[in-house]
Amino acid sequence: MPANLFIVEDEMPIVTLLKYNLEKEGHKVNFANNGEEALLAIQQKNPDLILLDWMLPDISGIEICKTLRKNNLLKDIPIIMLTAKGEEEDKLKGFQTGADDYVTKPFSQKELLARVTALLKRSRPSVTADTIHFEDLKVDRVEKRVFRSEKEVMLGPTEFKIIDFLISNPKRVYSREQLLTNIWGENIYVEERTIDVHIRRLRKAINIEGKKDLIRTVRSAGYSLDG
Ligand code: CA
Repeated sequence: MPANLFIVEDEMPIVTLLKYNLEKEGHKVNFANNGEEALLAIQQKNPDLILLDWMLPDISGIEICKTLRKNNLLKDIPIIMLTAKGEEEDKLKGFQTGADDYVTKPFSQKELLARVTALLKRSRPSVTADTIHFEDLKVDRVEKRVFRSEKEVMLGPTEFKIIDFLISNPKRVYSREQLLTNIWGENIYVEERTIDVHIRRLRKAINIEGKKDLIRTVRSAGYSLDG
């Protein structure tokens, strides 16, 4: 159940360790070392879960939490607060500002991973599910097979990744850039029109005869899975 995670933390050794352990679990991990950078990156990446440090050099974790909860597009992202030992009062405030869970530093990596998994399962069932449906489309993530109206559809590996990604957040429009980052990864050079080629293939494969087009092209914005 790979998810896109985001770490906001100014202590680099903690970031490095977390990133290492979360990536080992198959997650994609991005991070920021200060609040301002974090808010920008979170808007751009729309992660599945945020690990948010309480004490940051510029904006506090609480402020970030509040800002996210006020943003219609980002308010549902689950947040785990990382607090220092003894900040009991802060924990309380953290919950009031909308954090979903908290972990006290120093924390065990094992415990944190368990919290991440539990929270993802609770809040993002579409990200963690083995099988996922949208209309008459079914994606089996374990066997990596796709069905439309119970008929198997044959897809290449990239087309599979695209549909697997789009079905995690149906109706959400993703720009070509967001698709590139999420499917090919960062720092990999792929031309944007390559996306169009793969989308065309995907569309042709899943829009079997007589069935409606489930891929929506939004002019100058990108693509979404929509019925
Ligand atoms: Ca800190």
